[in-house]
Amino acid sequence: MVAAGYLARAGKKVLVLERRDIVGGACVTEEIFPGYKISTAAYVNSLLRPEIIRDFGLEARGYELLRRDPSSFSPLADGRYQMFWADAKKTHAEIAKFSTRDADRYADYEAELERVAALMEPMLMAPAPDPLSRSLGDLWNLAKMALRWRPEVDTILRLFSMSAADYIERWFESEPLKARLATDGVIGAWAGPRTPGTAYVLFHHVMGQAHGQRGVWGYVRGGMGTITAGLADYVREKRGTILTEAAVARIDIKQEKVTGVTLADGRSFQAPVVLSNLDPKQTFLKLIEPTHVSNELRRDVDNVRCRSGVVKINVATNGVPNFTSLPSNGPGPQHRGTIHFVESIDEIDAAFDDARAGRPSTRPVVEMCIPSVVDPTLAPPGKHFVSLFVQYAPYQRSDGLVWNKEAKDEFARRAFAMIAEKAPNWNDIVDDYMVLTPVDLEERFGMTGGNIFHGEMTLDQLAFLRPSRSLNRYRTPITGLYLCGSAVHPGGGVMGAPGFLAAREVLGRRA
Ligand SMILES: Cc1cc2nc3c(=O)[nH]c(=O)nc-3n(C[C@H](O)[C@H](O)[C@H](O)COP(=O)(O)OP(=O)(O)OC[C@H]3O[C@@H](n4cnc5c(N)ncnc54)[C@H](O)[C@@H]3O)c2cc1C
Repeated sequence: MVAAGYLARAGKKVLVLERRDIVGGACVTEEIFPGYKISTAAYVNSLLRPEIIRDFGLEARGYELLRRDPSSFSPLADGRYQMFWADAKKTHAEIAKFSTRDADRYADYEAELERVAALMEPMLMAPAPDPLSRSLGDLWNLAKMALRWRPEVDTILRLFSMSAADYIERWFESEPLKARLATDGVIGAWAGPRTPGTAYVLFHHVMGQAHGQRGVWGYVRGGMGTITAGLADYVREKRGTILTEAAVARIDIKQEKVTGVTLADGRSFQAPVVLSNLDPKQTFLKLIEPTHVSNELRRDVDNVRCRSGVVKINVATNGVPNFTSLPSNGPGPQHRGTIHFVESIDEIDAAFDDARAGRPSTRPVVEMCIPSVVDPTLAPPGKHFVSLFVQYAPYQRSDGLVWNKEAKDEFARRAFAMIAEKAPNWNDIVDDYMVLTPVDLEERFGMTGGNIFHGEMTLDQLAFLRPSRSLNRYRTPITGLYLCGSAVHPGGGVMGAPGFLAAREVLGRRA
């Protein structure tokens, strides 16, 4: 949608083709339960680039980011809890309940990430410089980058190479704090907190800014679909056309040049330029006839890793969880932000160990958000939309079972049990729920392996290597075919940057 917006803004004739009956991909609001507005997949925002909000006038089109204060709540089995507030003094007091040393260090930890994020930020809206390229522009950009990164190069190397756990343990000793931070290192990753490279995933989550504050995530009023609906509105205003229920079956190619696309229902459209926001496996292996994919390209695409253990469970409830550690009769501060249920890094690691062996986690890692507490328009009066981002469930199970309704319900029960340990009323307030396993995410949104970032975010699949060296510049070996989704630099999340950069490449304005 972002690529379409920039192309339409430049006066190009744009056609957006969407397989589903709603446009917006994994960033949508859907009425999956009557009277509810559910952010079916993506549920919080921080990464969306301010340039994109501005260029498409998204605020005038209804986009509003809602603050979550406190931003997180961790209820503990021993009756205590920890919260993170916008007010640094209050957060200091919360951390000091478990370690005064950690409380005193927290501001320095945040400052370190903030400094590195500020250095990296210019990379988000520019193609990643390629050290193997012979272009003077690339070499110049690399030199500039090296100079810019120099003061923080030790931290940068740590963030790119260390595990989230090792990075966090350089700073902190108390388990509730370490566990809460480590979850950011495994969000959407096929990895545990002790897997090398996960410190980068943690860092990726502090790259954005909500309300001008780095690393802060907010809810979008009306659900995440407000963002993509605003983009669609812009595209239509610029005379672009958006067709839903329009599944592309084939990207048409003649003499290694794109000529258009053919839909599953037989309609076809001619175009000199086609942008695909599907990942490279979907684009090259599903939508292009094999004769147009060279052996080298096929090998590159085969090697892109898209594993995932993510399950999204959307729940309709008739109340809010009542936590033993902070009881309440209704919504309170503990319900506003992200609620964490794991208490230690080892617990997260054990959950991943299960999945690595092909088993759904016995004690899954659950991240709960209740956006309707902050935005009551999302659910009928007295009801709530509870979003559960749960890890890990392997795409392919070692027990040979498939992810049918029974298997999904069984996994949901494990996640619900984790919640009920801390909020005993949980099972009583659940009215209905929908479970999206990695297989469902692949089927519903076209994400290979259910990988929410269209490709794992590990060092070998980042920057000039995203998704592979041969596809790192939005262009592809097929003339007129471009990649514009999360699979390309700077990667996943509701950010818009890949779409901006792909459109720029099409328009010939290289950064
Ligand atoms: C469960 C989940 C939770 C997430 N949570 C967050 C979050 O809270 N915050 C955040 O910033 N990011 C989050 N993400 C990541 C974010 O949603 C994605 O990175 C982002 O949506 C990717 O955008 P995209 O345009 O690249 O592709 P997508 O959003 O994946 O869109 C691809 C679109 O292509 C369509 N399509 C597929 N095949 C065809 C075809 N053959 N023809 C036509 N159309 C087709 C699909 O229906 C889909 O609409 C989450 C993702 C998931 C799955």
